[in-house]
Amino acid sequence: MSLIRLAYASTATFKAMPLEQGIEPNVSRILLSSRRNNPKKGLVGGLYYGDGHFFQYLEGDESAVHELYDRIKRDDRHKDVKTLIEEPLKTRTFSNWSMKYVPVAGDVGRFLRDNKLSKFDPYQFDSILCEQMIELVRASSHDDKLVNYGTRESRAHRTNPDIVSKGIRNGLIAAAVVLVAAVMVGGIVLF
Ligand code: FAD
Repeated sequence: MSLIRLAYASTATFKAMPLEQGIEPNVSRILLSSRRNNPKKGLVGGLYYGDGHFFQYLEGDESAVHELYDRIKRDDRHKDVKTLIEEPLKTRTFSNWSMKYVPVAGDVGRFLRDNKLSKFDPYQFDSILCEQMIELVRASSHDDKLVNYGTRESRAHRTNPDIVSKGIRNGLIAAAVVLVAAVMVGGIVLF
Protein backbone atom coordinates (compact mmCIF):
# COMPACT_ATOMS: atom_id res chain seq x y z
CA MET A 1 0.00 0.00 0.00
CA SER A 2 1.50 3.35 -0.99
CA LEU A 3 0.35 6.54 0.71
CA ILE A 4 -0.08 9.77 -1.18
CA ARG A 5 -1.30 13.27 -0.43
CA LEU A 6 -3.28 15.46 -2.76
CA ALA A 7 -4.56 19.03 -2.65
CA TYR A 8 -6.69 20.77 -5.23
CA ALA A 9 -8.51 24.03 -5.87
CA SER A 10 -11.92 24.34 -7.49
CA THR A 11 -14.78 26.79 -8.00
CA ALA A 12 -18.25 26.21 -6.58
CA THR A 13 -21.06 26.16 -9.15
CA PHE A 14 -23.81 26.80 -6.61
CA LYS A 15 -24.89 30.21 -5.45
CA ALA A 16 -23.83 30.45 -1.83
CA MET A 17 -26.78 30.29 0.55
CA PRO A 18 -26.87 32.01 3.93
CA LEU A 19 -24.76 30.21 6.48
CA GLU A 20 -26.54 28.04 8.98
CA GLN A 21 -24.54 27.35 12.11
CA GLY A 22 -21.52 28.79 10.33
CA ILE A 23 -21.60 26.43 7.34
CA GLU A 24 -22.92 26.89 3.82
CA PRO A 25 -25.63 24.21 3.43
CA ASN A 26 -24.20 22.70 0.19
CA VAL A 27 -20.81 22.43 1.87
CA SER A 28 -22.44 20.85 4.88
CA ARG A 29 -23.91 18.11 2.67
CA ILE A 30 -20.53 17.50 1.04
CA LEU A 31 -18.93 17.18 4.46
CA LEU A 32 -21.55 14.75 5.62
CA SER A 33 -20.94 12.50 2.57
CA SER A 34 -17.21 12.80 3.08
CA ARG A 35 -17.39 11.86 6.72
CA ARG A 36 -19.57 8.90 5.91
CA ASN A 37 -17.50 7.63 2.97
CA ASN A 38 -13.88 8.53 3.70
CA PRO A 39 -13.31 6.46 6.85
CA LYS A 40 -14.37 3.32 4.97
CA LYS A 41 -11.51 3.96 2.54
CA GLY A 42 -8.98 5.10 5.14
CA LEU A 43 -9.01 8.61 3.70
CA VAL A 44 -8.33 11.67 5.84
CA GLY A 45 -7.98 15.34 5.11
CA GLY A 46 -9.75 18.65 5.21
CA LEU A 47 -11.91 21.01 3.26
CA TYR A 48 -12.17 24.78 3.11
CA TYR A 49 -14.78 26.74 1.22
CA GLY A 50 -14.54 30.50 0.86
CA ASP A 51 -15.17 33.23 -1.72
CA GLY A 52 -16.77 30.66 -4.01
CA HIS A 53 -13.68 28.43 -4.01
CA PHE A 54 -12.84 25.06 -2.52
CA PHE A 55 -9.51 23.90 -1.18
CA GLN A 56 -9.40 20.23 -0.29
CA TYR A 57 -6.55 18.17 1.07
CA LEU A 58 -6.58 14.36 1.06
CA GLU A 59 -4.26 11.70 2.43
CA GLY A 60 -4.59 7.97 1.96
CA ASP A 61 -3.81 4.93 -0.10
CA GLU A 62 -2.97 5.95 -3.67
CA SER A 63 -5.77 3.98 -5.29
CA ALA A 64 -8.37 5.21 -2.76
CA VAL A 65 -7.30 8.84 -3.22
CA HIS A 66 -7.41 8.52 -7.02
CA GLU A 67 -10.78 6.79 -6.97
CA LEU A 68 -12.27 9.55 -4.80
CA TYR A 69 -10.58 12.33 -6.76
CA ASP A 70 -12.04 10.97 -10.01
CA ARG A 71 -15.49 11.02 -8.40
CA ILE A 72 -14.99 14.51 -6.96
CA LYS A 73 -13.87 15.84 -10.36
CA ARG A 74 -17.15 14.64 -11.87
CA ASP A 75 -19.24 16.38 -9.18
CA ASP A 76 -21.19 19.23 -10.74
CA ARG A 77 -21.26 21.24 -7.52
CA HIS A 78 -17.88 22.59 -8.54
CA LYS A 79 -15.75 23.09 -11.67
CA ASP A 80 -12.24 23.94 -12.88
CA VAL A 81 -10.60 21.45 -10.54
CA LYS A 82 -6.86 22.15 -10.43
CA THR A 83 -4.42 19.79 -8.73
CA LEU A 84 -2.08 21.76 -6.48
CA ILE A 85 -0.15 18.94 -4.80
CA GLU A 86 0.07 15.24 -5.58
CA GLU A 87 2.98 13.32 -4.13
CA PRO A 88 3.97 10.25 -2.11
CA LEU A 89 3.68 10.43 1.66
CA LYS A 90 5.74 8.47 4.20
CA THR A 91 3.31 8.67 7.12
CA ARG A 92 -0.12 10.15 7.64
CA THR A 93 -0.19 13.63 9.13
CA PHE A 94 -3.91 13.63 9.93
CA SER A 95 -5.08 11.08 12.43
CA ASN A 96 -8.59 10.03 13.38
CA TRP A 97 -10.31 12.39 10.98
CA SER A 98 -12.31 11.62 7.90
CA MET A 99 -12.66 15.22 6.71
CA LYS A 100 -11.85 18.28 8.78
CA TYR A 101 -13.59 21.51 8.03
CA VAL A 102 -12.26 25.03 8.51
CA PRO A 103 -14.93 27.61 9.30
CA VAL A 104 -15.07 30.74 7.19
CA ALA A 105 -13.96 33.21 9.81
CA GLY A 106 -10.93 33.17 12.02
CA ASP A 107 -7.62 31.66 11.03
CA VAL A 108 -8.15 31.83 7.27
CA GLY A 109 -8.90 35.56 7.58
CA ARG A 110 -5.58 35.98 9.38
CA PHE A 111 -3.84 33.78 6.79
CA LEU A 112 -5.20 36.03 3.99
CA ARG A 113 -4.21 39.22 5.80
CA ASP A 114 -0.70 37.91 6.64
CA ASN A 115 -0.16 37.01 2.99
CA LYS A 116 -1.74 40.26 1.72
CA LEU A 117 -4.43 38.38 -0.19
CA SER A 118 -7.69 40.24 -0.79
CA LYS A 119 -9.75 37.05 -1.19
CA PHE A 120 -9.51 33.29 -0.95
CA ASP A 121 -8.20 32.18 -4.35
CA PRO A 122 -6.42 28.82 -4.00
CA TYR A 123 -5.61 28.71 -7.74
CA GLN A 124 -2.93 31.31 -6.95
CA PHE A 125 -1.37 29.33 -4.09
CA ASP A 126 2.31 28.44 -4.40
CA SER A 127 3.71 25.51 -2.46
CA ILE A 128 4.34 27.65 0.65
CA LEU A 129 0.75 28.92 0.77
CA CYS A 130 -0.53 25.38 0.15
CA GLU A 131 1.46 24.09 3.13
CA GLN A 132 0.17 26.95 5.32
CA MET A 133 -3.38 26.16 4.26
CA ILE A 134 -2.90 22.45 4.99
CA GLU A 135 -1.59 23.39 8.42
CA LEU A 136 -4.70 25.50 9.03
CA VAL A 137 -6.91 22.60 8.04
CA ARG A 138 -4.88 20.24 10.22
CA ALA A 139 -5.19 22.57 13.21
CA SER A 140 -8.94 23.05 12.81
CA SER A 141 -11.06 21.53 15.51
CA HIS A 142 -14.37 22.44 13.91
CA ASP A 143 -16.09 19.09 13.70
CA ASP A 144 -19.32 19.01 15.60
CA LYS A 145 -21.55 21.66 14.10
CA LEU A 146 -22.71 19.80 11.03
CA VAL A 147 -26.36 19.55 10.21
CA ASN A 148 -27.59 17.79 7.11
CA TYR A 149 -29.73 20.67 5.92
CA GLY A 150 -31.21 18.87 2.95
CA THR A 151 -32.57 15.83 4.67
CA ARG A 152 -35.89 15.07 6.26
CA GLU A 153 -34.02 14.17 9.48
CA SER A 154 -32.42 17.61 9.71
CA ARG A 155 -35.69 19.42 9.04
CA ALA A 156 -37.27 17.27 11.72
CA HIS A 157 -34.35 18.06 14.01
CA ARG A 158 -34.75 21.79 13.52
CA THR A 159 -38.45 21.75 14.38
CA ASN A 160 -38.57 18.64 16.50
CA PRO A 161 -41.54 19.09 18.84
CA ASP A 162 -39.99 16.71 21.37
CA ILE A 163 -36.97 19.00 21.71
CA VAL A 164 -39.16 22.11 21.98
CA SER A 165 -41.54 20.59 24.48
CA LYS A 166 -38.67 19.21 26.55
CA GLY A 167 -37.26 22.75 26.87
CA ILE A 168 -40.65 24.22 27.74
CA ARG A 169 -41.30 21.41 30.21
CA ASN A 170 -37.98 22.01 31.97
CA GLY A 171 -38.71 25.74 32.10
CA LEU A 172 -42.18 25.14 33.59
CA ILE A 173 -40.79 22.76 36.20
CA ALA A 174 -38.15 25.33 37.21
CA ALA A 175 -40.80 28.09 37.39
CA ALA A 176 -43.06 25.88 39.50
CA VAL A 177 -40.23 25.07 41.92
CA VAL A 178 -39.43 28.80 42.31
CA LEU A 179 -43.13 29.62 42.81
CA VAL A 180 -43.59 26.94 45.47
CA ALA A 181 -40.44 28.11 47.26
CA ALA A 182 -41.65 31.74 47.14
CA VAL A 183 -45.07 30.77 48.54
CA MET A 184 -43.42 28.78 51.36
CA VAL A 185 -41.03 31.63 52.23
CA GLY A 186 -43.95 34.10 52.07
CA GLY A 187 -46.02 31.86 54.34
CA ILE A 188 -43.20 31.56 56.88
CA VAL A 189 -42.70 35.35 56.94
CA LEU A 190 -46.47 36.06 57.37
CA PHE A 191 -47.09 33.52 60.11
P1 FAD B 1 -24.52 10.60 -1.23
O1 FAD B 1 -23.69 10.75 -0.02
O2 FAD B 1 -25.71 9.74 -1.18
O3 FAD B 1 -24.95 12.06 -1.66
C1 FAD B 1 -24.92 13.02 -0.60
C2 FAD B 1 -25.81 14.12 -0.81
O4 FAD B 1 -25.27 14.96 -1.79
C3 FAD B 1 -27.21 13.76 -1.24
O5 FAD B 1 -28.09 14.62 -0.58
C4 FAD B 1 -27.19 14.02 -2.73
O6 FAD B 1 -28.45 14.44 -3.20
C5 FAD B 1 -26.21 15.14 -2.81
N1 FAD B 1 -25.47 15.12 -4.05
C6 FAD B 1 -24.65 14.16 -4.46
N2 FAD B 1 -24.11 14.51 -5.63
C7 FAD B 1 -24.65 15.73 -5.93
C8 FAD B 1 -24.48 16.61 -7.00
N3 FAD B 1 -23.66 16.31 -7.98
N4 FAD B 1 -25.16 17.77 -6.97
C9 FAD B 1 -26.00 18.07 -5.97
N5 FAD B 1 -26.17 17.28 -4.91
C10 FAD B 1 -25.52 16.11 -4.91
N6 FAD B 1 -17.24 12.77 -1.33
C11 FAD B 1 -16.59 11.95 -0.50
O7 FAD B 1 -17.01 10.81 -0.32
N7 FAD B 1 -15.43 12.34 0.13
C12 FAD B 1 -14.89 13.59 -0.04
O8 FAD B 1 -13.87 13.90 0.57
C13 FAD B 1 -15.60 14.49 -0.90
N8 FAD B 1 -15.13 15.74 -1.09
C14 FAD B 1 -15.82 16.58 -1.94
C15 FAD B 1 -15.33 17.87 -2.14
C16 FAD B 1 -16.01 18.73 -3.01
C17 FAD B 1 -15.49 20.12 -3.21
C18 FAD B 1 -17.16 18.29 -3.68
C19 FAD B 1 -17.89 19.22 -4.62
C20 FAD B 1 -17.64 17.01 -3.49
C21 FAD B 1 -16.99 16.15 -2.61
N9 FAD B 1 -17.45 14.87 -2.37
C22 FAD B 1 -16.78 14.02 -1.54
C23 FAD B 1 -18.74 14.41 -2.94
C24 FAD B 1 -18.49 13.49 -4.10
O9 FAD B 1 -18.28 14.24 -5.28
C25 FAD B 1 -19.73 12.59 -4.31
O10 FAD B 1 -20.90 13.38 -4.44
C26 FAD B 1 -19.91 11.69 -3.13
O11 FAD B 1 -18.70 11.01 -2.85
C27 FAD B 1 -21.02 10.67 -3.45
O12 FAD B 1 -21.18 9.96 -2.28
P2 FAD B 1 -22.44 9.03 -2.11
O13 FAD B 1 -22.46 8.07 -3.25
O14 FAD B 1 -22.35 8.47 -0.74
O15 FAD B 1 -23.62 10.04 -2.33
